Amino acid sequence: MALLPIAILSILGLSWWMGWGVLRVLVAIFIVWVVVLALMLAAPAAEIRAGLGFDPQLWLAGGMLLGLAIGYFAIVGRLRAEAERRWGTEDAPRFMPVAAPDAPSATPAPSAEARAKTEDQALDRYARHIVLREIGGPGQAKLRDARVLLIGAGGLGAPAALYLAGAGVGRITLADPDTVSVSNLQRQIIYRTADAGRAKGMAAAEALRALNPLIDVHALRKRVTAEDIDLIAQHDLVLDGSDQFADRAAINAACARAGVPLIAGSIAQWEGQLTTYDPARGAPCMACIFPQAPAPGLAPACAEAGVVGPLPGVIGAMMALEAVKQITGAGEGLAGQMLIFDGLYGETRRITLQRDPDCPVCSGLAQRAPEA
Ligand SMILES: [Zn+2]
Repeated sequence: MALLPIAILSILGLSWWMGWGVLRVLVAIFIVWVVVLALMLAAPAAEIRAGLGFDPQLWLAGGMLLGLAIGYFAIVGRLRAEAERRWGTEDAPRFMPVAAPDAPSATPAPSAEARAKTEDQALDRYARHIVLREIGGPGQAKLRDARVLLIGAGGLGAPAALYLAGAGVGRITLADPDTVSVSNLQRQIIYRTADAGRAKGMAAAEALRALNPLIDVHALRKRVTAEDIDLIAQHDLVLDGSDQFADRAAINAACARAGVPLIAGSIAQWEGQLTTYDPARGAPCMACIFPQAPAPGLAPACAEAGVVGPLPGVIGAMMALEAVKQITGAGEGLAGQMLIFDGLYGETRRITLQRDPDCPVCSGLAQRAPEA
């Protein structure tokens, strides 16, 4: 029986060398188990089995344990593959591959009939946009082709995400490191009580897909930092609804570097504000206006200061409205303007923001020509 440990050790060594997964190692051990069992049963006399120290009952029990382990790892592997198929991995977000116009597509193109059906559905779904003079068919096509990154699927990000999904923004990425807590539900009405404890991005993505199956939604469970320039550059527009100054400053710096416009909203107690930072097209960035973090205690987050439930809905919906205008070119956006809403007295005012020529973030960055 000394052969058995040697066989198992050599399988483990081989698997380490070949980079096998647990499941494959277990299956290899199982094959050895079957071969040994067959040899022992084929042995002519019981004396030989006894002489070799072979106990059939022990051997069968070991085989059953091995079978259970294989079943367990097979199920785990299948669940993981399914999750990656649906959500993608952090390194490889699940985006549809964008083929060059003349390159052969990896997946077969949908039939003309299926395309016509989708177009009919879209015409029906977006009819109220299409009759708007400022949006119309061309504006709706721009929304369909737009890629928007929403940072934070909380009070501001969630209502903005719902409206952008409803409006037919073709690709939405939701990035949020947190899970849903019961204290979120007072204002983050995208979630249900049963979602408590789930990753916010995943739960919110589910709601968006249920609202509009014609769009592509992807969830990332991560905090976006100043290093995420590549992630931001994969999008046409970023909406920031995070509530910590350090996070907002990092996102501003990454957007400025990537040359992607940033619609930023913030709320506290009864008041909210929003603006569009776009230094690549001449507008100020966040560091032009707020070069330094406020003194501790001066700008407390919602958790300490409190926030009235419908306020994030108001400001989040305004962020989505600015996003629709930014994408379709309708009206005039909030670049260089800050809109301030006082919910306690029902007042709105607008202030003009100036770019700081010595801004530590955006001075010296290349300007982009305004899009025609
Ligand atoms: Zn700046």
